[in-house]
Amino acid sequence: MGRMSGKVALVSGAASGLGEAIALLLAAEGAQVAVADIAAEAGQDVVDRIRAAGGDGMFVRLDVASEAEWDSAVAAVVARYGKLTVLVNNAGIAPVGDMEMSFDLWRKVMSINLDGTFLGTRAAIRAMRGSEEACSIVNISSTMAMTASPTTAAYSASKGGVRSLTKAAALYCAAQKLPIRVNSVHPGMCVTPLVSRYFEEYPHALEAQIASHPIGHLGSPEDVARGVLYLASDESGFVLGSELVIDGGFLIQ
Ligand code: NAD
Repeated sequence: MGRMSGKVALVSGAASGLGEAIALLLAAEGAQVAVADIAAEAGQDVVDRIRAAGGDGMFVRLDVASEAEWDSAVAAVVARYGKLTVLVNNAGIAPVGDMEMSFDLWRKVMSINLDGTFLGTRAAIRAMRGSEEACSIVNISSTMAMTASPTTAAYSASKGGVRSLTKAAALYCAAQKLPIRVNSVHPGMCVTPLVSRYFEEYPHALEAQIASHPIGHLGSPEDVARGVLYLASDESGFVLGSELVIDGGFLIQ
């Protein structure tokens, strides 16, 4: 029996990086996992690896910024596995942009990072509302929700929004007596394709980033996945609206 036995999880942005590690770990711990992403080929590859390891997974096409695609993705999971008990709102983008960025870029970041988390949380609440099992929604925010830099205007704003939205959703579910806990996770910099793309563009930034993490190195996707596993499982049954910071000490300076 794994720590996620009997759970059905949808992980958005699970074709790469943190989402991929989260999907693989939840499946390894016994969850049936829907790998949801716009990247079909890479997403199917993650599903194949889940199955090769003896787990159960499916790919679901999902653009998190689309209200209609959330409806069809959740419906596909419920049709296949009979329920949805865990949602990890992980899909996100982090383009560099300062206060003179284009409005189009601002809107794009907001639509994926913040609208996507709202739409996902709402869709999951609707699917989980009648559940007799404990359900969990985990929102991947960032340390950039609590701090900022000159070039993270939209990103910090979107992740700050995710942090606050998580608390509103947690309180809503509690007030409605729904069996759903909602929490956020705040990773420091972890080595994923998103971050590697950034360092390709700004190679001088790597050393400074490592130096800004007191532990002396950047995180791994698995570091974050283990925190998500705790919040997704029933082990965190008394944890509601909390912020799990996984950042090598970045924020305590
Ligand atoms: P990544 O680029 O490696 O993976 C992101 C995934 O999301 C990709 O598979 C991509 O196809 C998918 N995606 C992008 N837009 C989408 C959309 N509209 N709908 C559905 N899927 C979409 O990124 P990552 O580093 O793994 O980041 C994952 C999450 O973690 C993001 O929300 C990011 O902001 C957050 N985060 C990452 C770090 C880090 O250091 N890597 C730190 C803090 C927070």
